[in-house]
Amino acid sequence: YSIHVARNSSEVINGIITKTTMVISEIIKPTLILISSMILLVGIMSALFTINTTVALVASIGFGLLYLGVVRYTHQQISENSQTVAEQSTQMIKSLQEGLGGIRDVIIDGSQQFYCQQYRNADLPFRQAAGNNRFISEYPRFVMEAVGMTLIAGLAYLMSQQAGGLATIIPVLGAFALGAQRLIPTIQHAYGSYTNIKGSKSSLEDVLSLLDQPLPSYADQPRPIPIPFEKAIHLNKLSFRYTKDTPWVLKNIDLKITKGSRVGLMGVTGSGKSTLFDIIMGLLSPTDGEFTIDDEPINAENSRAWQAHIAHVPQNIYLTDSTIEENIAFGIPREQINQKQVENAAKQAQIAELIEEWLDGYQTLVGERGIRLSGGQRQRIGIARALYKGANVLIFDEATSALDDKTEQAVMEAIEGLGRELTILIIAHRLTTLKGCDQVIELSNNGVLQSGSFQDVVIKKS
Ligand code: ATP
Ligand code: MG
Repeated sequence: YSIHVARNSSEVINGIITKTTMVISEIIKPTLILISSMILLVGIMSALFTINTTVALVASIGFGLLYLGVVRYTHQQISENSQTVAEQSTQMIKSLQEGLGGIRDVIIDGSQQFYCQQYRNADLPFRQAAGNNRFISEYPRFVMEAVGMTLIAGLAYLMSQQAGGLATIIPVLGAFALGAQRLIPTIQHAYGSYTNIKGSKSSLEDVLSLLDQPLPSYADQPRPIPIPFEKAIHLNKLSFRYTKDTPWVLKNIDLKITKGSRVGLMGVTGSGKSTLFDIIMGLLSPTDGEFTIDDEPINAENSRAWQAHIAHVPQNIYLTDSTIEENIAFGIPREQINQKQVENAAKQAQIAELIEEWLDGYQTLVGERGIRLSGGQRQRIGIARALYKGANVLIFDEATSALDDKTEQAVMEAIEGLGRELTILIIAHRLTTLKGCDQVIELSNNGVLQSGSFQDVVIKKS
């Protein structure tokens, strides 16, 4: 998770879609061509050497030097172009994603020109570099064909001057003409493949660095058995920062959350509430200190077993462009979705009535990122999704901020009535949201400011 948040998604998308295709067409295929050209070259050359050693020697040294000269001359340019191609193709995707992602602002601000220009700024150097490399790999062909033809004509002239006349040299000349006809394209293929490979080196490096991040070892294993959670979640002197160069987000946090409690977290914006939840969810590891479940420290090995307990409703709920039903039963194959359970979750999230009014009901399509729904509707689908999972630790990060007071109250009441085997953690800016919590924690700019009942923390303060 920390690698993903530190990296731009355009890089990954480009690496997976464009650069892997490029590795196949510009590295793997040319490598095979290079190998077969080499075999052909050796065959043709040895035949020519047996026919006439001097002529074969002159021809091979001549062509060899010519191509070597071209390679030396263009070498730097190809490397630079290769880098430009790799960088600018990522920029192209980035400017597309950003322009389309913020389309509402683009239209209101009339900044279409700016985003088009940004795309052009990446597109033009990309096309130029790619075209340039293509030119470098193709153009010697024409020169070499001309040189080859001149060479044969010269050879015919020289030989015809010797004793025996034209009649005796026809077979030798014929063999060389035929040889050259195969030889020149083969050398060109080998050279072209070499420049292709060199021109895609930077893209290959990017693909390899993506491949260097294998899926974690648990990815192909079935869902782990949940780690026992009977007593409490503990944070012991926990500190966290995102990188060595950034300030501490959390410092020396001591916290105990008993199973079955409702815990509210408040604090000024940027005080690290979402970060603290990411640590509790095992997405980020503490920089210092310990995070334990029933006194068992959570680390990379057992974080999956802990996550099996958790359902999370984030600040910005992510919906896929599919039906309401598939968004509530998220990540579950269509035919395995439990209809009853979906309806139940929707009811608890106070959105069932609304969905049933829609023409397609649970089969309504929500649009890309849920664009056809209002913010509050999206949030309630997110809540329904968490409830559908049937997890026993529910984590709400500002999950009700877009709801009106009355709807929020109804959602919170439904959540509070869920049964005491569930542990619920809530971040809220609106303090009334936390009314039903047993414990309220106020986070200051790098630690716990105070912790106690809703009465102690909220009411006494005001
Ligand atoms: P809000 O109430 O606005 O949601 P928050 O309390 O949830 O705020 P966090 O999102 O936890 O705040 O952020 C805490 C601090 O960590 C902020 O100062 C933020 O700049 C920083 N931060 C958050 N994510 C990253 C990241 N990926 N890399 C570096 N710093 C980050
Ligand atoms: Mg937050």
